[in-house]
Amino acid sequence: MTRTAYAEINLHALRHNYALAKRQLPHTHVWAVVKSNGYGHGLLRVAQALPEADGFALINLEDALALRHAGIQSRILLLEGAIEARELEEAAAWQLDVVLRSEHQLQWLRACGQRLRVWVKVNTGMNRFGFVPERAIEVVNEVRALGCEVAGLMTHFACADDLAIKLDAPWQRFMQAVDATGLPFTAANSAATLRAGFTHGAAVRLGGLLYNNNPFYPDTSLWLQGLRPVMRFAARIVHTSELQAGESIGYGAAYTAERPMRIGIVGAGYGDGYPRAAPSGTPVLVNGCRVPLLGRVAMNVLAIDLSQHPQVDIGDEVTLWGDPALPCDEIAWRCGTISEELQCALTSRLPIRQI
Ligand code: PLP
Repeated sequence: MTRTAYAEINLHALRHNYALAKRQLPHTHVWAVVKSNGYGHGLLRVAQALPEADGFALINLEDALALRHAGIQSRILLLEGAIEARELEEAAAWQLDVVLRSEHQLQWLRACGQRLRVWVKVNTGMNRFGFVPERAIEVVNEVRALGCEVAGLMTHFACADDLAIKLDAPWQRFMQAVDATGLPFTAANSAATLRAGFTHGAAVRLGGLLYNNNPFYPDTSLWLQGLRPVMRFAARIVHTSELQAGESIGYGAAYTAERPMRIGIVGAGYGDGYPRAAPSGTPVLVNGCRVPLLGRVAMNVLAIDLSQHPQVDIGDEVTLWGDPALPCDEIAWRCGTISEELQCALTSRLPIRQI
């Protein structure tokens, strides 16, 4: 069987989303978060499509160097700083901004003798990385004494995407450090940017929002209207068949027809990155109409209900997610996860079409 599944990456939509975010946020820098292969959209593809971005944020030094080798001269922030001492020298050589998040890294900085641009990370409750607020001023002074530039303070909220949890407590902790140092700051991811203007500071770090992922889905009350899907996951129908009442379809006979049905078999499965966790009833789009998935998703195929669509046939295209009428958020939500997990999980064998 010829491979029929593919992902379409719409760079016009990405640029549109970045420009829309910029227009909404004229008072702060907007850094595009491109970690994990640009949230599955392609690291270089995304970064090169946003030459006007105020900066990029990512995790790995290798990814930062890939951007530099591609000629990207924008600011690049290493969100987790370094996991080896040698990385600090590379970061200085390639003019990367580095997050300083631990005593361990501070020791490396003392030894490395490089003039780095540093953001001091403050732990506001995520409890993974960062200095306690009380320690921030000492760290800042020491980093300066080492000859480095302290660009500002940085934090990352644990619960910004949960509207039931207030940001007051982490915010007060962060402000303790900000007030003590008088430094600019970067604190907001997509969720904080949307819900709390006071977190915007010198730069916001937008990942999901640029890729049209709503952190509050299915709540759309804070969502920025006008954003567009960047990734569309599609595949073709490779077979059609009939089910009689009482007959089942697919592994585990997980769906049984209650009436005669027309079935479409779509050439995409979890081997391509469509989640096996998607339950029966999850919609796909056929000719702009939502039709339900039936039974279990297999490695290479999934079944859909074409009973209301007698004209749809082998070779026709099905959108699995990434249309305004079928956002990735909806599929992720039905699977009990978030869009980012689905987008990052697209398998590397999946062909990418760039538009
Ligand atoms: N800042 C940091 C430190 C992150 O780890 C991330 C991603 O998890 C972001 C910003 C971007 O978050 P979002 O994709 O929710 O905008």
